[in-house]
Amino acid sequence: MALIVHKYGGTSMGSTERIKTVARRVAKWHDAGYQIVVVPSAMSGETNRLLGLAKELMPQPDPRELDMLASTGEQVSVALLAMALKAIGKDAVSYAGWQVAIKTDSAFTKARIESIDDAKVRKDLDAGRIVIITGFQGVDGDGNIATLGRGGSDTSAVAVAVAMKAQECLIFTDVDGVYTTDPRVVSEARKLNTVTFEEMLEMASLGSKVLQIRSVEFAGNYKMPTRVLSSMTDPMLPLDIEARSGTLISFEEDTNMEQAAITGIAFNRDEAKITVLGVPDRPGIAFQILGPIADANIEVDMIIQNQSVDGKTDFTFTVPRGEYAKSMEVLTEQVKGHIGATSIAGDAKVSKVSVVGVGMRSHVGIASQMFRTLSEEGINILMISTSEIKISVLIDEKYMELAVRALHKAFDLENA
Ligand code: ADP
Ligand code: ASP
Ligand code: MG
Repeated sequence: MALIVHKYGGTSMGSTERIKTVARRVAKWHDAGYQIVVVPSAMSGETNRLLGLAKELMPQPDPRELDMLASTGEQVSVALLAMALKAIGKDAVSYAGWQVAIKTDSAFTKARIESIDDAKVRKDLDAGRIVIITGFQGVDGDGNIATLGRGGSDTSAVAVAVAMKAQECLIFTDVDGVYTTDPRVVSEARKLNTVTFEEMLEMASLGSKVLQIRSVEFAGNYKMPTRVLSSMTDPMLPLDIEARSGTLISFEEDTNMEQAAITGIAFNRDEAKITVLGVPDRPGIAFQILGPIADANIEVDMIIQNQSVDGKTDFTFTVPRGEYAKSMEVLTEQVKGHIGATSIAGDAKVSKVSVVGVGMRSHVGIASQMFRTLSEEGINILMISTSEIKISVLIDEKYMELAVRALHKAFDLENA
């Protein structure tokens, strides 16, 4: 019997009414003869509420305790969904990640899944039960609950699908698929029927939060068919129509010669830029600046080192905005005096906008078109970085939405 994993996000689980709708949709698939494992997120707003409580007690809450706390949101969801299914006559059982067990490393608040034991789940499925497993969490080698980072239920779902050798993983959410850009920012954004794994990986890593990046990695590494689709439709929508709806992540190279140069536009509001000025231009400087940043567990993204004048240079890089204060502290205390830099400057109000597409490999002039569009809007580019299938620019945050809309139009994404 074919097994399908369903994942439902926070909005989809947002009230008991919505949970009833999820139950009816899940029951429809079960009635059609599929074995079903459901991975829900916490009810919308709940994870934020819990993290807010923690901050009221401690500005930098202890990560282990933070995970102990944040993981409870999903525990509420699984139990409520099991009840909603039982209420309509379906046999269902809920488990927290640790009960399955979903084993993770001990990197609290950003743990990685190491293994999933399928025995218990398999037994329930064979007995005809619908199995509901908490998203976002697992248990480390010492029995501590660890969470997978914000948006982590996507990763739980795909990882469970891989471990259970599911036929497909369906990510039900509050939009009806992956769009050319966030449809909440650009109303002309167009839904994609398929997106290549490489493009989805770039979009996710560049800020499109529709899928957590690690879920895309799992899907790609194990070739797990993964589809993003709407949980907002009538739950009684005929199954064959639902099964083909949304956006499928494809693992084939797109062989269409006429493909558009650009598939989508991603953005990330929460960036910060730091410049270390007047650094001596000598071997080892980049390491002396970024080593302490890495030791503080801060992820660096874009990096530029200018040509030196009179043996001195400026070194600029970006970090997530939430790590800005800590980065400035590390540089001021551990780096500035040590390497003899003149000063450190920063800007925590910058955003990154990226155009993404495998079509870039066969099209020229994408960068110049991007830069022309931004210049026509009077938007100054602070930093640029490129890879084979993406170009990213860092700009002042107040122009971010304007930039996304202008680029969406310039690359004709609404009509492609
Ligand atoms: P869930 O709670 O179901 O996990 P998320 O809020 O994490 O939902 O992700 C869905 C949201 O992702 C959408 O509401 C949309 O605003 C946003 N989003 C960002 N980029 C895109 C995109 N390219 N296509 C679709 N949605 C996107
Ligand atoms: N509830 C968690 C969060 O809000 C996980 C998820 O929704 O995927 O980040
Ligand atoms: Mg999400």
